[in-house]
This record gives sequence, structure tokens and C-alpha cells, in this order.
Amino acid sequence: MKTYDAIVIGAGPGGYPCAIRLAQLKQKTLCIEKEQPGGVCLNWGCIPSKALISAAHLYEKSQAGGSMGIKVSGVELDPEQLQNWKEGIVKKLTGGVRSLLKGNGAELMTGTATIVGPNRVDVALPDGSVEQVEATKGIVIATGSTTIEIPTFKFDGDAIIGAKEAVSLRRIPKRLLVIGGGVIGLELGMVYQAFGSQLTVVEALPELLTGVDPDCTKVVEKRILKRGGTIYKGAKALGYEKQKDGSVGVKIQVDGKEQTIVVDTVLVAVGMRPSSKGLGLEKVGVTVDQRGFIPTDRTGRTNIPSIYAVGDVSGPPLLAHKATKEGEIVAEVIAGHKAEKDWVAIPGAIFTDPEIATAGLTEAEAKAKGLEISVGKFPFAALGKAMAMNETEGFVKIVADKKTKQVLGVHIVGPEASTMISEAALSLEMAAFLEDISLTIHPHPTLGESLMEAAAHAMGAAIHIANR
Ligand code: NAD
Repeated sequence: MKTYDAIVIGAGPGGYPCAIRLAQLKQKTLCIEKEQPGGVCLNWGCIPSKALISAAHLYEKSQAGGSMGIKVSGVELDPEQLQNWKEGIVKKLTGGVRSLLKGNGAELMTGTATIVGPNRVDVALPDGSVEQVEATKGIVIATGSTTIEIPTFKFDGDAIIGAKEAVSLRRIPKRLLVIGGGVIGLELGMVYQAFGSQLTVVEALPELLTGVDPDCTKVVEKRILKRGGTIYKGAKALGYEKQKDGSVGVKIQVDGKEQTIVVDTVLVAVGMRPSSKGLGLEKVGVTVDQRGFIPTDRTGRTNIPSIYAVGDVSGPPLLAHKATKEGEIVAEVIAGHKAEKDWVAIPGAIFTDPEIATAGLTEAEAKAKGLEISVGKFPFAALGKAMAMNETEGFVKIVADKKTKQVLGVHIVGPEASTMISEAALSLEMAAFLEDISLTIHPHPTLGESLMEAAAHAMGAAIHIANR
């Protein structure tokens, strides 16, 4: 039996950085992956979807330059070439993960792992044999999450698809219905809407993107409607019937009334579930909660001291950057360093059009905590750089403690929101006050000035908009 210091199960954005960091810390490390390295994120999630999103922006922008005096004709989309380009990026990145693991001295094994003891793992190899391996210091579960399927909308790889298939379409559906107005539904729904699909969104809850600042969501919602999309909220997707011409009649219930919407493709994006089944957890006694997540302490340890869990499988939010940070922390812990999960905020970035990015508390969350708040808001419509970019929709909102002026949360909807949120995350980590942001000189002309102005606005001192 081969013996390692640490075994990491899964080579996604939680597992592979964990294995790399372990190897950097001179731990003999094995990373086991049953598919390509990179996990959902690199193979069919974050990166492939962002490739499509940037292509969609370019496609839209190239046709919308008229007001800037740029007239482009004959813009054509070649979905085959788009897919080939996207697949090239995926290949480069997954290959890069292999090289990084190797370069740092971690071993990558292709196979399916089962935990058979507090320090032991069996790996079913592609040739049908089983290899037994041992970890003297720790086993890290980094198995991620899998797409939830609705029984009445089973994926058929053709008309009823999940996100995995949706990032690989080589034909643009004329009519696309998305079940689930969450992150995936809106990001991918808007990509195909930009490419010309007639988009319908069916969301079960009263609002899209539940939990996100509703003012931010409204801006995205308005964009979907402006492009001719339809949104049903508080609606149930009951089932579907295939029509003779290959289209799909989707039966939905809104306000107690049933109706049928005929489309070509249905994207089911109703969430992800932790991949904690089939790992042998019951046998070794690792606690799994009712939803399938593996609870851990601040060091990433499960109830079994030699077994750790990171990323989606260890609980929400299901975000790659949270998984990576947890993976790095657990690597340090296994290597004997003092490390623990000790962050103020996990920023979120939603790549809709325009983007939404958030860090810290929303107004509603702060109020629910009984905090007295002041709110500053700066619209991109008042910002020179945004005007020069011809992207003036959206705003930056800063929520702060009314008395102390400490920043509690930042919510951005608009151009480059995902890039700008890092300043907000740093502000929260450093316990910044409104003055820290407003007194920091932000270069002009940049989108970042909107953060400075929003902080000033919360104190009644914004320069380029009226203060209350
Ligand atoms: P989600 O939880 O964001 O959204 C799912 C939506 O589907 C919810 O609004 C829910 O109310 C709705 N829903 C559930 N059942 C339904 C039904 N039967 N009919 C209609 N609506 C229904 O999940 P997702 O969009 O599938 O994304 C999965 C995970 O991946 C999320 O946790 C998300 O954080 C993560 N993700 C993040 C990003 C990003 O950060 N940019 C991008 C993609 C995915």
C-alpha cells in the first residue's frame, strides 16, 4: 500500500489548490480525480460560462456602436467556432492544473475514491483494479456538488438540459425557457438572449436571485425585459410535452392558472447538491447533515479528526473562491501550521448583464441584525468613465453602521462590478470606515470612483450627485 502525508479527493477549485499548497509545504500528497482536473469550475462552470459571456458582450456591443458613431454590419455568430474557442480555453486550463500539481510535487491519480478508514482510501482505477492508499496526516474531501434534476424535467441532453450541456450548445435555440431564476439561469439565459434566443425565465420564488440586494436584481431584470424576455415569478414548472416538430410545450402555473409555453430548449437551473454520496462516509462515521453537506470546524476538520472537507461539499456558499481559500487553509492545518477560516466576507460576483457583485451585509440583513444603518448610493449614470464606456446602467451601494460609519456591505450592479468588489472585500476585511474609502484617492476617470463617491454619499458629501 502506498503511503502519503495527505490525500485529497477531488481536483476542483477546492481540491487542486489544497494539493498544491500541501506539496509546497513539503507534504507527500496524492490528489485523486475521477474526471478531468479542474472540477465544475474549469470544465463546465465558471470559466466556460465566462467565455460565452464575454463573447455575448462582444457580439452585442459590436452591433450597438451606432450611437458612438461606429457602424458595423454583417456581424455573424458562428456557434461551432465559439465552442471550439471555449474548449481550447478549458483544455489549456485543465492541462495547466495537471502541470501545476506535478510542478509542485503533488501526485495526480485518475480514479474514483472511497474512504474505507480514517486514514485509508480505496481508488477504483479506470482499468477496473483497485489501489489502496493511506494518508498518515489527513484525507481532504473536495468532491464539490452536482446539478439538481427535477423529476418532471429529466435531462435528455437535447431539449431538456442542465448547465453542463448549456455551455456546450453548438446551435442557438430560437426559444429558450430557463427553470430557475438563480445565478446559472440568469447568467446563461442572458448569454443566449444576447445571441438571439427568445428568453423565458420561470422562478418559483417571488423574486429572482433571492438573497441579492433587490435594487441590484431590478436592474438586471429590466435588461432582460428590455431585450424582449419574459419573466414569471412565483411560478411552477409542472411538466412538458414534446411536440411533433421537436419543440417542447412547457406547462407552467402562475397565479393559480396553468399555461403552456412552447420553446425549443429548456435549461433546468434549480441549484446544486453536495457530492457526498458514495464516498463511504457512513462507514467511517463522518457526519453529513440533512442536505448532504459535511459540517466542519474552523480548521476544516470534520467530526473525524483525520478527515477534512472543503468547498461546495462542506456547505454554502457554493463558490469556487470560497473552496480555494478553504483548500489552502486545510493544507496549512495538515502541514502543522496555525490556520483557520477567519474571513469577514465572501464576495460574490454574478455575471449577468450588467454584472452584480456583493460583499458583506445587504440593507435587509443589517436591519435584521438590529443595526442602525446609513446607505450611500452612486449611480453609474453620473460617472464620466461609465458614460465614456456607454455603460451607465447600475450603481454602487454602500451600507454602513450609522453611528460608527464602519462599512458593513457593498452591492454593485453595473460594468465591471465583479472586478470592483475586491476593493469592497478588502475594506470589510480591514474593518474600513466610510472615510477610509472616501478619503482614498481613486484615479480619475475610472469606474472605481463610484465606490469613493458612494462612501461619500453615505456621509452626505458626494461631489457628483445630490446629497440628502
Ligand atoms: P441557485 O440556487 O442560484 O438558483 C436556483 C433557483 O431556482 C432559485 O432561485 C430557486 O428558487 C429556483 N428554483 C428551485 N426549484 C425550482 C422549480 N422547481 N421551479 C422554478 N424555480 C425553481 O442555483 P443555480 O443557479 O443552479 O446555481 C447553483 C450554484 O452554483 C449556486 O449555489 C451558485 O452560487 C453557484 N454558481 C455561482 C456562480 C457565480 O458566482 N457567478 C455562477 C454559477 C453558479
